[in-house]
Amino acid sequence: MQLIIGSHVSFNKDKQMLLSVTEALSYKANTFMFYTGAPQNTKRVELDDKLIEEAKMLMISNNIDINDVVVHAPYIINPANSKNRDFNISFLKQEVSRVGKLGVTKLVLHPGSHVGLGVDVGINNIVDVLKNSIDDNTNVDICLETMAGKGSEIGRSFEEIKSIIDKVGSNHIKVCLDTCHINDAGYDLSDFDKILEEFDSIIGLDKLAVVHINDSKNCLGSHKDRHENIGLGYIGFNKLMQVIYHEKLKDVPKILETPYVGEDTKYPPYLFEIEMIRNKKFNDNLIRDIIDYYKK
Ligand code: FE
Ligand code: FE
Ligand code: ZN
Repeated sequence: MQLIIGSHVSFNKDKQMLLSVTEALSYKANTFMFYTGAPQNTKRVELDDKLIEEAKMLMISNNIDINDVVVHAPYIINPANSKNRDFNISFLKQEVSRVGKLGVTKLVLHPGSHVGLGVDVGINNIVDVLKNSIDDNTNVDICLETMAGKGSEIGRSFEEIKSIIDKVGSNHIKVCLDTCHINDAGYDLSDFDKILEEFDSIIGLDKLAVVHINDSKNCLGSHKDRHENIGLGYIGFNKLMQVIYHEKLKDVPKILETPYVGEDTKYPPYLFEIEMIRNKKFNDNLIRDIIDYYKK
């Protein structure tokens, strides 16, 4: 089985998606995820057609299918809060069109936090923003991410995600399942088959477009959302492998968003995490190997 695996990578003003592909290849990945600007702001550079073409050529020559590539919307956007409604809509609309211009089809979005307005009001706000942002003339799907339930986050259960999808009523709304987030939300990954059955009966497996593979620094149901390197957290290597190699998810891209390691956390873990996943064997020396590799 051809595993579709990659990680979060960079994107910058000068090289744009070409930089993202190059970085992904340095991790021996066959997909990747990036923000089209800083994740914590909504400033976005103009996309360069020539760079898009070059990035696409590089993907083709390395067997990366652009349909497996993911863009993550900036996390400061909070669609659940009506306070910045008009800005949220205009930004998200623009982001959908930028993603479409890049040729990418998957845009991951955090549903947001209701900030005291209550879950029902929060969900209605999200639905309003989504209805006004999706574009049936593009191939871009907005993938709502399952959240840890930190603070007043919405999307901490499959039911909440389902309710948003139903109310929007568009085929362009899909789902991104994050293993750290569902662990922290209280879904016990010791029985992943059961989680998938539940996902299938509530939302439908056909809606599952992206899986974020992260270990968690916190225990089941902690509602914290702090990612840990693969095999070093509370979920552990074996349970994550059940997710990564699950037959029903074989066509779904898997994206690592695990933390950088070493002094000043400056070394990316992805080359070694991907290698360990492909070898199907936990590397006891993971952090040491990463530091040794990048230090020289
Ligand atoms: Fe996310
Ligand atoms: Fe995630
Ligand atoms: Zn997270």
